Amino acid sequence: MGSDCGNSKECPLKTNTPTIKFTKLFINGEFVDSVSGRTFETKDPRNGEVIAKVAEGNREDVDLAVKAARAAFDHGPWPRLSGFERAKIMLKFADLIDQNIEELATLETLDAGKLFSWNKNADIPGGANTLRYYAGAADKIHGDVLKMSRELQAYTLLEPIGVVGHIIPWNFPCTMFFMKTSPALAAGCTMIVKPAEQTPLTALYFAHLAKLAGIPEGVLNVVTGFGRTAGAAISSHMDIDMVSFTGSTDVGREIMKASAASNLKTVSLELGGKSPLVIFDDADIDMASSLALQGILFNKGEICVAGSRVYVQEGIYDEFVKKLVKKAKDWVVGDPFDPQVRQGPQVDKAQFDKILSYIEHGKREGATLLTGGKAIGNRGYYIEPTIFTDVKEDMLIVKDEIFGPVMALMKFKTIEEAITRANDTKYGLAAGIVTKDLNVANTVSRSIRAGIIWINCYFAFDRDCPYGGYKMSGFGRDFGLDALHKYLQVKSVVTPIYNSPWL
Ligand code: NAD
Repeated sequence: MGSDCGNSKECPLKTNTPTIKFTKLFINGEFVDSVSGRTFETKDPRNGEVIAKVAEGNREDVDLAVKAARAAFDHGPWPRLSGFERAKIMLKFADLIDQNIEELATLETLDAGKLFSWNKNADIPGGANTLRYYAGAADKIHGDVLKMSRELQAYTLLEPIGVVGHIIPWNFPCTMFFMKTSPALAAGCTMIVKPAEQTPLTALYFAHLAKLAGIPEGVLNVVTGFGRTAGAAISSHMDIDMVSFTGSTDVGREIMKASAASNLKTVSLELGGKSPLVIFDDADIDMASSLALQGILFNKGEICVAGSRVYVQEGIYDEFVKKLVKKAKDWVVGDPFDPQVRQGPQVDKAQFDKILSYIEHGKREGATLLTGGKAIGNRGYYIEPTIFTDVKEDMLIVKDEIFGPVMALMKFKTIEEAITRANDTKYGLAAGIVTKDLNVANTVSRSIRAGIIWINCYFAFDRDCPYGGYKMSGFGRDFGLDALHKYLQVKSVVTPIYNSPWL
């Protein structure tokens, strides 16, 4: 490690930077300037240079988008189409994404510093597949028939919840966009998406493809802008029926307050995490150390389910540490367009500074730095894979979500101790367990309070598998059919039955 931009040979790599085609707000099926005419800059985290200036949406722009979405919901075709017809359009949308993977993956890497190979092979095609998954469910939405007491019968209808505001973060712009919009589209909702201000580019491109696919005007609007203005206008809007949010716990709390102070809109929150990975003495040390490293370094640690607290049982601790540190030193940080690189730059200067300040805090609090701990180079936002040990549960680096490549490594003796310490957090998003003992795996997986538990694996996601938070990691689930039901509401229709031959 150590050239100007991480340890890749060139700095930054020459890329076929695409012309940035979409920088305006997408409202009612058209790209438009913001009412104020203002724009903001989005920057390349490899070097801090401006990639594009993007329209800065504000309250007035959110109002226009909500008007369009409201009209599309109350009078437009989308909620009134059969699920099968909606699915056909969603499938076309998915095909258009596949036809533009290279360009979309490039935009995503330029905007977010995420690995190009990952975007190209996983996130962008994964977005298309999420659309396909929920398209498959769109014509299978149905309620129940209920036999009530006395001579009454009821049936339930599952109706779209209405106009939805999706507020999403910068760490997985494409995955989040489709994780939120696909089930809402399948349900027949209309929506306003507010991407994070750090990463607005792919969301606008998706809006263009949605229009090409035939999604009617007003159904999918994209308002780029800042959280405290455009985001707050969504969460406090009187004519939005639901907000689906992914982001920090602090902002999640603001969104709940805004909902309570406005129209009591339904809220779904996917928030922060400080997930434990618990490794028992019987683990394969090689496999476990790779899993632990991947668990904290994947996507530069900018992932809510990162395994940031690693607990290793005392019998294998020393050998585990040796292997882990060697692998961390071999981990290649550098230009995210370089196929050899495994970790790109942090998303922006604010995130970079925040991570480095946590590292300094850890050193000041007396934790031992096993490896890493510094920025790399003098251009862009690269940080060394960093592992602390000799940490205590009350240290900030163990309590707070750092959202960067920083692991807190701890030793434990018994299964009871592991469970207590794994649960010693305000969060409850994910957890990992490494053991060959089925009984241990069963006990620990049922004892940890978290929305997803990985046994002998980590980051094993599939769009069919719901995930979301316990405790202060939020509520509501993304992915799976649970997410589809989040965008539906149940109506019971009751009717008397006269002269039925059966009770
Ligand atoms: P953030 O909460 O600052 O921002 C997320 C989104 O909310 C952005 O679009 C932002 O513009 C908007 N926003 C900010 N202030 C707002 C306000 N007052 N009202 C309405 N909207 C507002 O979070 P971030 O820094 O972008 O992302 C990092 C955080 O997101 C981490 O804490 C991470 O754990 C969390 N996250 C959670 C998940 C999950 O699935 N649980 C996934 C990814 C990220």
